[in-house]
Amino acid sequence: TNAMRQLEKAAEKMNMDKNILGILQQPERFVTVAIPVKMDSGEVKIFTGYRSQYNNALGPYKGGIRYHPNVSVDEVKALSFWMAIKCATVNIPMGGAKGGVIVHPKDLSEGELERLSRAYIRKIWMLIGSDKDVPAPDVYTNAKIMNWMRDEFEKIIGRPDPGVITGKPVEQGGSLGRGTATAQGGLYCVRELAKRLNWYSSNIRVAVQGFGNAGANIAKMLNRDGYKVVAVSDSKGGIYRPDGLDAESIERVKLESDKLEAVYCEGSVCRAVEHERISNGELLELDVDLLVPAALEDQITRDNAANIRAKYIVELANGPTTPEADEILKGKGIVIVPDVLANAGGVTVSYFEWEQNVKGERWTEAQVLQKLEPIMVGAFNAVWDMSEKYGVTLRTGAFMLAVERIAEGMRKRGDV
Ligand code: GLU
Repeated sequence: TNAMRQLEKAAEKMNMDKNILGILQQPERFVTVAIPVKMDSGEVKIFTGYRSQYNNALGPYKGGIRYHPNVSVDEVKALSFWMAIKCATVNIPMGGAKGGVIVHPKDLSEGELERLSRAYIRKIWMLIGSDKDVPAPDVYTNAKIMNWMRDEFEKIIGRPDPGVITGKPVEQGGSLGRGTATAQGGLYCVRELAKRLNWYSSNIRVAVQGFGNAGANIAKMLNRDGYKVVAVSDSKGGIYRPDGLDAESIERVKLESDKLEAVYCEGSVCRAVEHERISNGELLELDVDLLVPAALEDQITRDNAANIRAKYIVELANGPTTPEADEILKGKGIVIVPDVLANAGGVTVSYFEWEQNVKGERWTEAQVLQKLEPIMVGAFNAVWDMSEKYGVTLRTGAFMLAVERIAEGMRKRGDV
């Protein structure tokens, strides 16, 4: 798979021990579960779910749960591997995991969604816990779903364990700042890039693919930092306006109507602004300075990499760029801040949430940001230095740094 090709590339550049590589080529544990759910019609439907526990040499398994019709064994394995690399890249004491259910959540009623979420936990509860494996939100899952899952888990074990899951509602043990943390971490990366490149933000044109938790929030944050966000998109397509879009207005309308409209709101009045409708594919090829893929994997591939015009890519999605595309982009001199660094703000604040839960603490949003920023900036610099020292891409630099840390953890516990 693409994830394994990335690992092999890092292995080659760092002369990785064959035994370490062998261990890292598969998850430590992978389970498939059949999840019966009573639908509103009275019929019982069986959904397929997975949990991949990739590696826990550095701490409890950690990673989100995705609800998507395209969830597959290979996808969940790859995502769980990236979680292990991601946690090690930002140096937090967590391992890598991922879960998923094959479902399109928009097809379910609220009650069906709750029954599915609880039933999934009934199938994997013995594998998770604040000291074992700590799930979190991912694509099409959210705080409400995390709370159903936590509640189901606590009912089964018969005692509270709020740290079993992160990304909970703030009133239910969630952390302030978790909802926007993935974008916030990405923003810190953009700011580090901007410092090195002497960017003047209002001259910088940005396209953001995806308008979910990561995409909508980074678009708003970039607006606030003065960047010109010229294009955004959701799963149905995108909008382009060379003079710039107002992400906050767009989000407001999207929340009300579930439609991505080019609007500008003043007070309670939103009006349409001139724009062009574009496809997700067209968005990726726009003439912009910075491209932020914030949707799904495999968006920039051997088929469109040659057409990418952005000089910089900050990956908020997991796995948006395939290894073939990586090579092509490298040849074009395009710099990619890789997913395992750029989107690590999410899991970092998840780790903060877990720490607050297990210690019985509650941190302010300011405290959360004060802790997140040095972690992101430190990791950005460490990855940048690796890339310069070994003459590799930022992605390979991050993998080398992360694998060395995981290898050290595995040596300490006697795996190798
Ligand atoms: N799903 C997010 C990710 O891919 C967050 C995982 C977490 O918070 O554990 O990084």
